[in-house]
Amino acid sequence: APGPAAKGKPRLLLMGQRRSGKSSISSVVFNKMPPNETLFLESTARVQKEAMRSFMDFQVWDFPGQLDFFDPNFDQDAVFGEIGALIWVIDAQDEYLDAINRLNMTILNIQPAYSNINIEVFIHKVDGLSEDYKLDIQRDIMQRIQDELSDHGFENAPINFHLTSIYNHSIFEAFSKVIQKLIPHLPTLEALLNDLCRSCRFEKAYLFDIVSKIYVATDSSPVDMPSYEICSDYIDVIVDVSEIFGWAPRPEDYVKALEGPPWNKKLEDQTGCGAAESCIVLTDQKRPIMLREVNTYLVLVAIMKEGSYEKMPLVTMNVETVVKGLLEVLEITKQRNGVEDGR
Ligand code: GDP
Repeated sequence: APGPAAKGKPRLLLMGQRRSGKSSISSVVFNKMPPNETLFLESTARVQKEAMRSFMDFQVWDFPGQLDFFDPNFDQDAVFGEIGALIWVIDAQDEYLDAINRLNMTILNIQPAYSNINIEVFIHKVDGLSEDYKLDIQRDIMQRIQDELSDHGFENAPINFHLTSIYNHSIFEAFSKVIQKLIPHLPTLEALLNDLCRSCRFEKAYLFDIVSKIYVATDSSPVDMPSYEICSDYIDVIVDVSEIFGWAPRPEDYVKALEGPPWNKKLEDQTGCGAAESCIVLTDQKRPIMLREVNTYLVLVAIMKEGSYEKMPLVTMNVETVVKGLLEVLEITKQRNGVEDGR
């Protein structure tokens, strides 16, 4: 029977050979570990998924030794039954033929029963490699996988490839792409963010997973790395501040005293909403950046245009409406996933 963990949360499984970089990836992405410190990681370190307050549900599996498809006791369903994406990490700085063979074997074994699982290959540790060499390796790996699969009758198997490193934002970019494919109502979320950018004249808006700083959705204007980095850095600032001053949940009487009548009325009169306090504006040189908590996992971050301060009441009101819309969409997602889980 499916466990309760997956309800409403996209579940990812990270696999690959020992020392390929799995623990490093999960520590950097989910525990804010500085990349240099991964040098001293125990290879066996595991992500504590229970403790993870992320929009995603995340598991890490090591090779070799854990998966034996020929062992009759191997419970495939327990491993693959609920996952949305299988992320396979290949160390690009090492000999990778064995990794590819194992990946091929895994795909061939799970494809018939779990054809809905997205296979995402992270060609990892590409930081030390030249542009040309990176592309050569990617071409070689893609070729070897597609050849093997088509030999077994799988033409054009849906496998995606990403060049990643924990020393830059490529690992976060790759996760964003992986996670976006698992969100059922992504176009609706994107449309809401587009509306928001138009009505508030924002340059860019992201819906971020707070813990990992992976963006779950963004408006349709192109993602540029500097703006993405600014937004994700600001989440760090807010998380640090909120670790000091506390995030949710606050005691009910405290909230009432601070935000109940008559204060809420006053706030509503001024801004059209009662949650102005969780909308924070910071400045990057001249452009204000707006953060608004959406739910326990997600935060809306937008880069505003210069001199948008005078429009703040209108901006706050629009943000409020969009946050409500986002929550509705996410609620539908949750219900839908719940139903599917129950089948
Ligand atoms: P695991 O056994 O798959 O969990 O691998 P680890 O996370 O323990 O990583 C093995 C080694 O690879 C560590 O020394 C990491 O510092 C290193 N590593 C991980 N990711 C990267 C990367 O993106 N670039 C480089 N150059 N080294 C990395």
